[in-house]
Amino acid sequence: MRTVVTGAGGFIGSHLVRLLKRRGCHVRGVDVRLPEFAESHADEFVLSDLRDPAAAERAVFRADLVFALAANMGGIGWTHAAPAEILRDNLLISTNTVEACRRAGVGTTVYASSACVYPGYLQRHPQAPPLREDRVFPAEPDMEYGWEKLTTEILCAGYRKAYGTDIKIARLHAIYGPWGTYEGLRAKSLAMLCGKVARIPGGAGEIEVWGDGTQTRSYCYVDDCVEGLWRLARSDVDTPVNLGSEERVSIGELVDRIAAVAGKTVTPRYAADRPVGPRGRSSDNTLCRRVLGWEPGTSLDDGLRRTYRWIERWAATHAPGTGLTGGADD
Ligand code: NAD
Repeated sequence: MRTVVTGAGGFIGSHLVRLLKRRGCHVRGVDVRLPEFAESHADEFVLSDLRDPAAAERAVFRADLVFALAANMGGIGWTHAAPAEILRDNLLISTNTVEACRRAGVGTTVYASSACVYPGYLQRHPQAPPLREDRVFPAEPDMEYGWEKLTTEILCAGYRKAYGTDIKIARLHAIYGPWGTYEGLRAKSLAMLCGKVARIPGGAGEIEVWGDGTQTRSYCYVDDCVEGLWRLARSDVDTPVNLGSEERVSIGELVDRIAAVAGKTVTPRYAADRPVGPRGRSSDNTLCRRVLGWEPGTSLDDGLRRTYRWIERWAATHAPGTGLTGGADD
């Protein structure tokens, strides 16, 4: 099968390319950059900016299956720092990719949407109920990043209705694992906390933690995420599906668990004035279990051990802030 992974230079894309190779696919990776932490296993790697419609057409040429992962993307620091660029770039990338897939007659496209499509009013308490796929409207998505994801979901549904284009939608929830950016504005919370703990010299120290530590999340290990993307691609599902974990943890507890894995005594210094996002967010996997007969199964402790070990090793051999690049405008 001829597959394309856009965003193949990024975190999830790098892992997905490896999975597709193991499943016997031919893989074309497309990105504005090469992967920064490990060599790509793609059969071909096209350096290309998908904000250009002609580049998107070349990217998906003759593909049977396209995974649309490219995005101007980052953690909460980045979504607050670059809202206009995020909305502009991602609307262009997604619209160009969806249209190129239609014109090229691609068999199936899988679009990487996000838990950020869910309304803020459902996530105001640390113990807010897990997010179910049918609870998106009335819309109040998470910042410009979430508005683009929701808009593209609607675009995909429109293409399905108007042209019969098979576009599947995965709502990814806080994916983590090795090869995720752990420093700088683009780093996501779990990786960033691991990076801070790894850089504590000796066995004890203090780290800054955004918020007051009571906000909750459910983190999904990247191996589960790419397995879910593959299963979704092979399914006949035609509505959005959560790909996330149901294991909820508060940020304060997460710091304790990272400290335990690291074998360090960590004192959090809470910065309540920094952006924190929703107070409580977690995935409801009822639909995932029903339609895919499967759900992400890696425990937080297992995934954390593997992720921390990778960050610890990488940080030990790389000075802070080196080699950590991002999207098209960096
Ligand atoms: P990432 O930033 O590591 O990967 C995205 C890749 O897209 C990067 O390599 C970047 O260079 C590339 N890109 C950016 N602009 C481009 C352009 N104009 N043309 C071509 N490539 C471009 O992010 P990730 O964590 O691997 O996320 C992959 C996808 O999953 C994204 O669409 C993201 O929004 C979505 N997602 C991720 C998470 C998560 O927790 N990581 C959660 C929800 C949704």
